[in-house]
Amino acid sequence: MVELKKIISHCKEYGFIFPSSEIYDGLAATYDYGPFGVELKNNIKQSWWRSMVRENENIVGIDSAIFMHPSIWKASGHIDAFNDPLIDNKESKKRYRADVLIEDELEKYQQKINKEILKAKKRFGTAFNLSTFQTTHPRVVKYSNKITSISKRLSDSLEQDSLDELKNIIEELEIRCPVSGTTNWTDVRKFNLMFETKVGALANESSKLFLRPETAQGIFVNFLNVQKSARKKIPFGVAQIGKAFRNEIVARQFIFRMKEFEQMEMQFFVRPGEEIKWYNFWKESRMDWHKSLNLNFGNYRFHDHQNLAHYANAACDIEFEFPIGFKELEGIHSRTNYDLSQHQNFSKKRLSYFDPDQKESYIPYVVETSVGLDRLFLSILCGSFVEETVNNEQRIVLKIPPKLAPVSVAVLPLLKKEELTDKARDIFTNLKSTFSCHFEEKDSIGKRYRRQDAIGTPFCITVDHDTITDNQVTLRDRNTMQQERIPIIKLNKIIKERLDI
Ligand code: ATP
Repeated sequence: MVELKKIISHCKEYGFIFPSSEIYDGLAATYDYGPFGVELKNNIKQSWWRSMVRENENIVGIDSAIFMHPSIWKASGHIDAFNDPLIDNKESKKRYRADVLIEDELEKYQQKINKEILKAKKRFGTAFNLSTFQTTHPRVVKYSNKITSISKRLSDSLEQDSLDELKNIIEELEIRCPVSGTTNWTDVRKFNLMFETKVGALANESSKLFLRPETAQGIFVNFLNVQKSARKKIPFGVAQIGKAFRNEIVARQFIFRMKEFEQMEMQFFVRPGEEIKWYNFWKESRMDWHKSLNLNFGNYRFHDHQNLAHYANAACDIEFEFPIGFKELEGIHSRTNYDLSQHQNFSKKRLSYFDPDQKESYIPYVVETSVGLDRLFLSILCGSFVEETVNNEQRIVLKIPPKLAPVSVAVLPLLKKEELTDKARDIFTNLKSTFSCHFEEKDSIGKRYRRQDAIGTPFCITVDHDTITDNQVTLRDRNTMQQERIPIIKLNKIIKERLDI
């Protein structure tokens, strides 16, 4: 798969993503979406919304405010428990996430294993047997055992909130600060990830608000409003797309981890006791959705959580193989009735539901699907980025799923001559109300095709001299680069059919 740095420079060059505040030297972990980026992002949102809300009779949407009553974050547990474990190096004064330092160290062991495997593959050729090698080679066995035992201790200490144990692991592994190169660490401390802000003229404690770190709570506090106004019976879901904010200290890896990002979440309210059935349903359904994107490099896997958060009775991540390895793309969580019960306790308002079929009231259980829009965007770019040589020509092409492509159709007059550009403009005007269209007359046709490939445009229409007399154009397919003559009158129908995959 492509390296991340190639994706980053491609995004900048072709107007997908720019570093935020760039002319002021940028602002860490914040990014701006450019002309083609915003189109792709909007298409991803629409596609998710369509599959969640439009295609499910029992799911409706909302758009709740970013600012919410501060007690919401007390009830949800974010004030007390939404923390990262941080550690400082005393020499460099740099701050790190303790768990990430350990994970990075484990990654080094993994790389050592990969190197050994590569060496052995070369040496033994076709006789090489991976599973035998992994279970018998002494160094590989040693590294694997280390990874397993440290991973277990890491997840236990995170689960049990044991900051001392995290420090112990860092000392045992003799992890050095990447800047100072020393092992002179402070103790591990907790750091809350929520951003604070003030409202009103008086800057006192009572005017303190938080920027929401997830969109889910906006759904929980509106549960009865939505249920009553949309006249929904359980089971039903509420979906929302919106910004979330987290003061991530280790915010590297481009748009994978940002301080300001967008989430697409759906909370599905179910009868107590039926949550695991629905959890399994959404787990499969979301995985199918990702796979249906049919990316060129689309490797997904489930990561079932062994250590569950106190409010969950089942949880997993859908991981995607990014250039930085398999990482979380979406979380599916069975959150029990924790959130609604907490809000009922804190707000002193009843949040129970009367089930007309069972003739009883209860606080519904919730199954959540939560995907980061920006991470999904990154997965689609990484999974679509192809460098290939076709007919002795090299090209970079984004094989983005056609229905998501920022531009669906580019209309290109072969030459910058009035009769060709006029004809091409007519075609452009006819198509632009149905498709996202782009008109371009500058540069040679070859260069324009390359540019559209790099943006991921599935179809190019070329208007040439013959078009004037025969009313046909050349339709070029992005993936196959095949060109065919098509009557102008049939363009709309053909493109519609081919985009609607
Ligand atoms: P991670 O372990 O990577 O920090 P998380 O488990 O905290 O993620 P959730 O709270 O489950 O993430 O959030 C749901 C989804 O929101 C994630 O699967 C991810 O796609 C997205 N997300 C979370 N944090 C960020 C971030 N800082 N930048 C971009 N997307 C994010």
